Amino acid sequence: MKHHSLAVIPGDGIGPEIMNEAMKVLQLIEEMHGGFKFDIQSFNWNCEYYLKHGKMMPDNGMEILKDFDVILFGAVGEPRVPDHISVWELILPIRKTFEQYVNMRPIKLLKGLESPLRHKSHDDLDFVVIRENTEGEYSNMGGRLHQNTPYEIAVQNNVFTRYGTERIVKYAYEYASCHNVKRLTAATKSNAMNHSMTFWDDIVKEISQQYNTIETNLYHIDALAAYFVSNPEKFDVVVASNLFGDILTDLGAAIVGGLGLAPSGNINPEQKYPSMFEPIHGSAPDIAGKGIANPIAQIWSVGMMMDHLGYSELNHLILESIENVLVDGKVRTPDLGGTATTSDMGDAILERLRTLL
Ligand code: ATP
Ligand code: MG
Repeated sequence: MKHHSLAVIPGDGIGPEIMNEAMKVLQLIEEMHGGFKFDIQSFNWNCEYYLKHGKMMPDNGMEILKDFDVILFGAVGEPRVPDHISVWELILPIRKTFEQYVNMRPIKLLKGLESPLRHKSHDDLDFVVIRENTEGEYSNMGGRLHQNTPYEIAVQNNVFTRYGTERIVKYAYEYASCHNVKRLTAATKSNAMNHSMTFWDDIVKEISQQYNTIETNLYHIDALAAYFVSNPEKFDVVVASNLFGDILTDLGAAIVGGLGLAPSGNINPEQKYPSMFEPIHGSAPDIAGKGIANPIAQIWSVGMMMDHLGYSELNHLILESIENVLVDGKVRTPDLGGTATTSDMGDAILERLRTLL
């Protein structure tokens, strides 16, 4: 029997609520498959922990996580703790330290759902955004001077290294090539950001030379955002810097029905360190504690995790169960126009999955 070590960080707000449903799914596939076992350890590193200890995780937190095969993450953040603390002290150190430089974010309209973009079909809305996840605009370099004076200035540096840019662009082309994709779109803004983004463009052009069967389009981020809405069928693989990818994927989630439906993988392709899977949305303090959050993004993240561990058939079955429930249409959380609870939705997916396994 194969053993996989899994660190679970449910987090704050709706994080633990949706993680609960994801764990039920994990338990079921473990029981029904019979070929593997998860050795699970759960960590309460969240804002509550911060309020008690003055930090989001213990000093040896990264040391502890390092030895796990994979990490499943919910969401962190709550009103009593500034957002930049939960992000900079927990999520970003994990992504950066473990060289999870690929942030894989599928933008896919699931069967049973309609896009808010009228006339756009399931074929039109099926692509991936590959976001750079370790550098770029989220650099933590910069500063503030002359605070609270009329001369106050703030500087946030963007850091694009050749090493970091080449590896994400190469990954995107390799991904496109392995999936028989004919077009790759890179998000840029080299007309205004004349150092970082011209550099980004140069690297995209350099690497594109090695993939002459793939058509490359460099679009400025503003136009690209508009195309996401007007012509999403233009896209197969989109590669973007850290900030641009972040913004594009919330937009991407919106065009396929909402944030509760968008999973992601923070991947270390070399598998030197653990990869981490999480919904792209946050802890949603506005609906936390009500039991009405949509668990689909979290459950689909389990699917992506299974795919990463080499069980791609289980990822397909999880997605099929989610789609079956949506097509059936009886169980829907409020974000999808229904009245079902988080656990109603989790249980419905679980029941479908049981029949498919
Ligand atoms: P973060 O800064 O962590 O990204 P945020 O404040 O930007 O958080 P989210 O927590 O992502 O925002 O929530 C944005 C909106 O989407 C909220 O109105 C929230 O209720 C809704 N939302 C997010 N996730 C879900 C979900 N799983 N189910 C239903 N609604 C959700
Ligand atoms: Mg957000």
